[in-house]
Amino acid sequence: MEQDLNQAQTLDREDVLAKFRNYFFIPQIDGKDSIYLCGNSLGLMPKQTPQYIDQELEDWRHLGVEGHLHAKNPWLPYHEILTQQMANIVGGKPSEVVVMNSLTVNIHLMMVTFYRPTKTKYKILVDYSLFPSDRYAILSQLHFHGYGPEGMIELSPDEGTEYVSRETIEHIIHTHGDEIALVLIGGVNYYSGQVYDIPFITSLAKKHGCAVGFDLAHAAGNVTLNLHDANVDFAVWCSYKYLNSGPGSLSGCFIHEKHHDDLSLNRFAGWWGQNKTIRFKMGPEFDPIKTAEGWQLSNPPILSMAAIKSSLDIFEEAGMQRLRQKSLQLTQFCLDLLGTKSKKYTIITPLKDEERGSQLSIQMSEKDKSVFDALIRHGVIADWREPDVIRIAPAPLYNSFEDVYHFCQIFTDIIGS
Ligand SMILES: *Cc1c(COP(=O)(O)O)cnc(C)c1O
Repeated sequence: MEQDLNQAQTLDREDVLAKFRNYFFIPQIDGKDSIYLCGNSLGLMPKQTPQYIDQELEDWRHLGVEGHLHAKNPWLPYHEILTQQMANIVGGKPSEVVVMNSLTVNIHLMMVTFYRPTKTKYKILVDYSLFPSDRYAILSQLHFHGYGPEGMIELSPDEGTEYVSRETIEHIIHTHGDEIALVLIGGVNYYSGQVYDIPFITSLAKKHGCAVGFDLAHAAGNVTLNLHDANVDFAVWCSYKYLNSGPGSLSGCFIHEKHHDDLSLNRFAGWWGQNKTIRFKMGPEFDPIKTAEGWQLSNPPILSMAAIKSSLDIFEEAGMQRLRQKSLQLTQFCLDLLGTKSKKYTIITPLKDEERGSQLSIQMSEKDKSVFDALIRHGVIADWREPDVIRIAPAPLYNSFEDVYHFCQIFTDIIGS
């Protein structure tokens, strides 16, 4: 183990992103930095975020309503200063990306537009082990259109595994494609950590005339994405996991440019989607902005957006390519130390680079939470998913190789004892 620690320290010394750890507050346990491996659930707080929020509070204090036009960053177009950087994170054009609402709200809004069932083609293909909020949203949309749960087809993993292979995806889409109106799955599966091949799934589904959307809650800021080129119809994601923008912060939304002018699409509208040149004429006609912004509803919460701006500035400085590279090294180091399978546990995350992100899901053979509870007592903040999975997600912005080393040592100590 001594040798492994040396190796971790060497990797940290060689890490070109090492300085970014100091950009973040690391939660303390018993007066020491915790080993925080929960950035897939709630990303850590950048030290500069209070300054960004304070700027808006100051402007509100001194300017009141005048801040809409005269704040340092005027509030009226505030969301626009997020667009380019957010578009870079997901590989979209700026016109295709908007930050608005929260994630589940955007799932609903996008389904209003892109779920257009017909008598024979009304089903929705969803992820394996679907996240509860997505399930509730999708089932309620089906119900709204007069369909029951039989309208939902779930991906299923290959037998005896938690892995959904390309062959399985191909088989399901070939078999059911003609009945499927919408494919709506994760970019990264929140349970297993599997990264899906978005261009592959999209082109397959398009051959069958399905609309295609992705929930990127676990993908945005984690893996490199290219939504525009993949020809995805829409995508949604939150900003508080890998994107470090604070609890409950706003969601990102991608709508492919080919849809921007299509006024035949349904949408649930609001005044922030209105043509900016006439918005404040307050007229009765809705003339939507011809970009993703045309789907906005409300004037947005500036304080949350300030936290997003702080985070996006850090992402821009670090760069998604470099982050992805370090992320793969961190998980590889962890896999080297833990192995992929023992009597006590199995790593259910796919091992190929292109099929895993920052998260490793460790399935415990004995289905009890005691190992997880002991981790917390030893200063490790990870995440437990019923019935038997510990999820860890070293985040390349603030986790070090030494974090991974200490986690592995604590984990194997607990298991051995
Ligand atoms: C985190 C997460 C959510 C959370 O949705 P909110 O509307 O932000 O509460 C939804 N879906 C998935 C897949 C998630 O990972």
